[in-house]
Amino acid sequence: MHTVKCGFAALTLSLLLSGCAPHQQAAAPETAQQKLTEQTVFAVNWMQQSGEISALSYQAFNTAETAFTQAKARPGLKKAVVVDLDETMIDNSAYAGWQIKHHQPFTDATWSKWNQAREAKALPGAVEFSHYVLEHGGRIFYVSNRAQADYTATVDNLKALGFADVSPQTVLLKPTGGSSNKVERFAAVEKQGYDIVVYVGDNLNDFSGETYHKLNTQRRDFVNRHQEEFGRKYIVLPNPSYGDWEGGMAQDYFKVNDEGKVKIREERIDAWDGK
Ligand SMILES: [Mg+2]
Repeated sequence: MHTVKCGFAALTLSLLLSGCAPHQQAAAPETAQQKLTEQTVFAVNWMQQSGEISALSYQAFNTAETAFTQAKARPGLKKAVVVDLDETMIDNSAYAGWQIKHHQPFTDATWSKWNQAREAKALPGAVEFSHYVLEHGGRIFYVSNRAQADYTATVDNLKALGFADVSPQTVLLKPTGGSSNKVERFAAVEKQGYDIVVYVGDNLNDFSGETYHKLNTQRRDFVNRHQEEFGRKYIVLPNPSYGDWEGGMAQDYFKVNDEGKVKIREERIDAWDGK
């Protein structure tokens, strides 16, 4: 922060408009990191304030119930459902709120601290869906990329919220030193004699390994090729605040610096020319 002196000769229209008085402090220039965080404000507003997000959540879990009920397991196998956790079964938007209020980027350390706080809330309809699956002869597997170090906190949080069938067998977090691609964990579930008939997630990677670390052109292509399965086998929750779709905007997006990310976000806007 630095002091701006508004001498008469130096008055500019912008200063007049901002109501600058002598010795009033001007805001420090926004850093690229702050800009990235600031850009999530409207998404987080929507996630915390809109009735629409609750409606979409109920819609997803009502659809998931129907899909589960109608699905038949392959002969000799038991019916299973695989669900993601973050922004699928539980709401972590307060962590995003903390990032916004304190101009903080996502880091593994602060994310873990949030996980340890056990303050995530249930998404509307999610707890009821977990019980529905159990009461109708299925098993539910919680396949998440949270870290093993946060396993106990995550299980405590899920149990406190009332989720069904929460156990070491059903909560499958990212293996230490292992891949965040979930396909190996999906295979491990099937190896136990289950047919995964429904997947619920907020990220295409919650459904398949085909989209893992892929660009959005390929991710959209996956969706087009599997269009018959959405609402039947793949149930999607909305998440406009983060996800692999962000990294899918450009090759090595997550490796470029904050200025580079801001630039990519701007370049990815399709715009009317106004004529
Ligand atoms: Mg998620």
